[in-house]
Amino acid sequence: MGRKMLVVGNWKMNGLRAQLGEVAAIGALARQHSGVEVGLCVPATLIAAASEKAGGAFIGAQDCHAKDSGAHTGCLSGAMLREAGAAWAIVGHSERRTDQHETSADVAAKALGGKKAGLKVILCLGESLETRDSDKAIDFVLAQLDDSLPEGAAADWLAIAYEPIWAIGTGRIPTMDQIEEMHSAIRMRLRERIGAGEADAMRILYGGSVNAENAADIFAIEDVDGGLVGGASLTAAKFGPIIEAAA
Ligand code: PEP
Repeated sequence: MGRKMLVVGNWKMNGLRAQLGEVAAIGALARQHSGVEVGLCVPATLIAAASEKAGGAFIGAQDCHAKDSGAHTGCLSGAMLREAGAAWAIVGHSERRTDQHETSADVAAKALGGKKAGLKVILCLGESLETRDSDKAIDFVLAQLDDSLPEGAAADWLAIAYEPIWAIGTGRIPTMDQIEEMHSAIRMRLRERIGAGEADAMRILYGGSVNAENAADIFAIEDVDGGLVGGASLTAAKFGPIIEAAA
């Protein structure tokens, strides 16, 4: 389909200036693998400094407010993130849906806020273990996609990340068949929602305990167009093999 692989690290609430050397090392790896689009979504406090070190990688944010400005203490708008040096933003990560009680409507609004400011956006979806165990994972994720998909969703600014909550940070991943089934279901629903052309061009990433050992198998699955990687993106030593697997 000609979709360029997209491999993005999510540093979550990790990273001080002392870790900028890792950003530079990952940026250098990204430059060596120009066939893969590589990025790091760092804490907002590091965006500006990381942008100067990022080499062939892009720097992204982990959230983005829906509004341009206003009385929203502690929040950051897309324009602020862009000015700091972010090119992308993650929205709807399960940790924010849980900890900050973000709804799918909030997530869709955040995605649009980011787009308006010129950010590209990774929209996260994923089911709990209880939902997976009751065989409702596909219905749940497709409903979440329906409710979170921003107006005007298009492949040139939006990517989807399927991240089963029970696989995040646990070392446990779905079977390859389960990943394939979910990604294919997401692709089909996207075709219904935004048309085949946009849907077939949109990257669908897998996230949840991706590491050097499992990345090649996961990236070989049809409809997996890269990964959103947490713990294994914190160092070039761990992230490098994942970038290579995507290449
Ligand atoms: C994430 O939080 O987006 C993630 C995928 O984390 P991990 O790779 O550590 O499971």
